[in-house]
Amino acid sequence: MNVITQKTGWIEIICGGMFSGKSEELIRRARRTQYAQQKIQVFKPSIDNRYSDEYVVSHSQMKLPSILVADTKEIRAKIEEDTQVIAIDEVQFFDEDVIELVGELADGGKRVILAGLDMDYMGKPFGPMPHLLAIADYITKLQAICVKCGNPAGRTQRLSHDKEQIVVGADNIYEARCRNCHEIID
Ligand code: ADP
Ligand code: ZN
Repeated sequence: MNVITQKTGWIEIICGGMFSGKSEELIRRARRTQYAQQKIQVFKPSIDNRYSDEYVVSHSQMKLPSILVADTKEIRAKIEEDTQVIAIDEVQFFDEDVIELVGELADGGKRVILAGLDMDYMGKPFGPMPHLLAIADYITKLQAICVKCGNPAGRTQRLSHDKEQIVVGADNIYEARCRNCHEIID
């Protein structure tokens, strides 16, 4: 008889372009842990203070209390021992150390939920995302709606001419575009 005796952890990732619903989905999954009476901690990078310091906020104004952190080291320091579920929003902004941390957490029996942009505004893989996607147990890739043509949109169009990979903004400088409508502007 196959009896599962040991509690196992895992890594699940919600990825996609901007406006695809990653934060909404993270919030939905986080809320469901309450019904299971599991202790959850939600982290987000301090770089992303577009709407609020204390909440993950979706573009549709759904909200979830969160802990603002500067880097992976700070997540590690703030995880409490009895936490069963660890969620990280905007995980593409974290340093490479986040890869080792989430692996350790999952190996230690925790459920890890990550949400992040898989590609930057150029359509290139974003920060630690390729590695995280490789080691994840479950992946959900969401699509927004292309504002030009109405097709599913996997890309994020930057409307300003900034060249840095990280320029924090919302619908003031970004919009969802499909592969055909996405343009690299010089
Ligand atoms: P993400 O975290 O992926 O940027 P959010 O969860 O914050 O996405 O927001 C998703 C919400 O954004 C949608 O439910 C919808 O209300 C809104 N939205 C605005 N523009 C678009 C778009 N072009 N396609 C889909 N949803 C959009
Ligand atoms: Zn399009």
